[in-house]
Amino acid sequence: MTYICSSCGKEHPDWPAITYSAPFYYSELNDEEKEKNTELGSDHCIIYNEHQTDRFIRCVLFQKVIDHCSNLEYGLWVSLSESSYKNYADNFQNTNHITQYFGWLSNFLPEYSHQVNIPTLVKTKAGNKRPEIIPDPEFDHPFVKDYYQGITKEEAEKRIQNILSNNS
Ligand SMILES: [Zn+2]
Repeated sequence: MTYICSSCGKEHPDWPAITYSAPFYYSELNDEEKEKNTELGSDHCIIYNEHQTDRFIRCVLFQKVIDHCSNLEYGLWVSLSESSYKNYADNFQNTNHITQYFGWLSNFLPEYSHQVNIPTLVKTKAGNKRPEIIPDPEFDHPFVKDYYQGITKEEAEKRIQNILSNNS
């Protein structure tokens, strides 16, 4: 699939978004735990642990691509505090709710070997679009560096191929 690019007029491949249907912590659970202790929807996930409850929402992240006209789009999850989650849930149908929350990135991309929690800012959007994740620029991690510096088109296409071959 290709499209005619509106910024350069050339034909480009139409990149699929790289998406995760659940937070990493959900995918780690077995079927019985998922059944008993969790809720999962298209935009929210709750995990009830014995001593705490973890709340996640589905967001988007736009990875800049240095030598290409469009970004690589990700569908990723972040965990929110109880009060941020409540505010998000209460305003889920509100098309003009523009705010921001602190969130921890809750998926690990295979391109980055050290799995640490990355702090982010989560910005809600008008028109009920999924919130956008902005990684904390002060946080020292290759994922954060790539987000701000951009990746190459070759790297972006490698990531897409990687996801497509894992899903098939
Ligand atoms: Zn272009």
